[in-house]
Amino acid sequence: MRSNYHTHTTWCDGKDTPRRMIEAALEKGFDEIGFSSHSMLPESDTEWVLTPVKAPRYAAEIRALAAEYAGRIRVRLGVEADYVPGGASPDRSNYASISPEYIIGSIHFVVATDGVRVPVDHSPQLLAEGIRDHFGGSAEAFIRAYFAQQRDMVSRFDFDVVGHLDLVRKFNAKHPYFDEAAVWYRDELAATADAVAASGKLAEVNTGAISRGWLDDAYPSADFRALLRARGVRFILSADAHSADSLDCAFDRFGSAEEFVSLEADKSFRTP
Ligand SMILES: [Zn+2]
Ligand SMILES: [Zn+2]
Repeated sequence: MRSNYHTHTTWCDGKDTPRRMIEAALEKGFDEIGFSSHSMLPESDTEWVLTPVKAPRYAAEIRALAAEYAGRIRVRLGVEADYVPGGASPDRSNYASISPEYIIGSIHFVVATDGVRVPVDHSPQLLAEGIRDHFGGSAEAFIRAYFAQQRDMVSRFDFDVVGHLDLVRKFNAKHPYFDEAAVWYRDELAATADAVAASGKLAEVNTGAISRGWLDDAYPSADFRALLRARGVRFILSADAHSADSLDCAFDRFGSAEEFVSLEADKSFRTP
């Protein structure tokens, strides 16, 4: 069973159209492909996410492609929904107008105590400035706030898959800013693993930082995956693909060594 449910297209910040992604998935022998456009409904107003106007058109296009390709490959409608405290949340109720088959809940911004949104994965420069200006220069304070926001998200909202759980590692290999072996960091991982397990949500092994050259490892790290699996958390394997050539990036490294669930086989996913 070959699949990828974390797929971006020209509907958000991806390079290729949904049709091009489906054709690439067919070439790679996939059984299933799910689309997960960035979305910050209900507040979406930026170019790289689904807006309230774009969302129904996106859903209609993916559903039409699902019908067209039926029998050759299963095409699923999903979203990658942001959690921005005080703004957007990855709750099914916000997405009732398009009824996605699944929702990936992701954090790309940490909201500081002064209300400013610090981007986690935009660039090393913006991250460093955000920590300097809004977290008193403390990477630990920023990362603790990030994981507190993760725990808040998984416990409060109705969605299916927790996206790239330790995205804070993205720049840490090339622009080190914290020690992943520190006791406080391990404590944050354990507390977050507890929260994900208690929520019953799926996590993902996300290879997006490999295809983009930032890390030689997936999100979450091997240590974090072990903490999650020890608590019974199950995973999907995700490329976080932003182009057709990265649809199965590094899947051979993880797919044979670890166990994953599929939308088709797993009852915890909802089908319309
Ligand atoms: Zn993401
Ligand atoms: Zn993504």
